[in-house]
Amino acid sequence: MDAIAIHRRAFLRQSSLLLAGSALASADALRAAETADPLVRIGLATDLHYADKPPAGARHYRETLSKFAEAAERFQREKVDCIVELGDIIDAADAPDVEEGYLQRIAKEFAAVHDRRYYVVGNHCVDTLTKAEFLEIVGQESCHQSFDLKGYHWVVLDACFRGDGEPYGRKNFQWTDANVPAAELDWLKADLARTPHKTVVFIHQRIDVEGLHSVKNAAEVRKVLEGSGKVLAVLQGHFHRNDYREVGGIHYCTLAAMVEGSGEENNAYALLDILPGHGMRIAGFRKQKGYEWPQ
Ligand SMILES: [Zn+2]
Repeated sequence: MDAIAIHRRAFLRQSSLLLAGSALASADALRAAETADPLVRIGLATDLHYADKPPAGARHYRETLSKFAEAAERFQREKVDCIVELGDIIDAADAPDVEEGYLQRIAKEFAAVHDRRYYVVGNHCVDTLTKAEFLEIVGQESCHQSFDLKGYHWVVLDACFRGDGEPYGRKNFQWTDANVPAAELDWLKADLARTPHKTVVFIHQRIDVEGLHSVKNAAEVRKVLEGSGKVLAVLQGHFHRNDYREVGGIHYCTLAAMVEGSGEENNAYALLDILPGHGMRIAGFRKQKGYEWPQ
């Protein structure tokens, strides 16, 4: 598989050289050849809800392992710079030790794909576990963080807080009561002010609309993002279905859940590419839609 990918890249590079030297080369063809190699490529998956238990409704918990194996092969073949999981990697076990076992199992699969990986915390991640227990198993220091990668800035937000500011953990919350607390908003504002780079944000619950699947103070979060003038896009999960809208000049993309539906045709995962000039492309696989956003 690697050989095919390398061959394809080499072919595209060669084509681009040929096109550059040809009077027949159209601007479109040249652009297509140039954008074949993105500046940054990230592997994305959301709402895996992994658990070793029988299906419930449309959710096929055990099948997440084989579905993720397909995504993992693609991420490796396409040489992603990192992988980002957009939340709800596990479901909601009755007991913490059982849940820890499920999380260890699926986190092991992620660890085999890439050294660099980021986990957005979803309501299900901390339904049975505490945030500290979740973080320890996935090997991450905080539920909200930012990092730089190849000239871009990336922010992971945590909306798993109740309206009274208490962090979710051990079945102490209603999933519709999602909030980004004031302290995290202050951190976000300072973080965005500091970075010289264009930025992409990851969050589990939606901040582009009002509704059951949305962060209650979504408008406040959007104000900070828009005010920075640096945010290109926000990637969200939680909704389990594809959705996209543009608000205030920022692309908000909600990704399809991996857990929904049986069989490989119901898998869902994506590659996020940043293209020269800050354009973005989402290559969607199986049930995941694809998008292209020129800047
Ligand atoms: Zn979910």
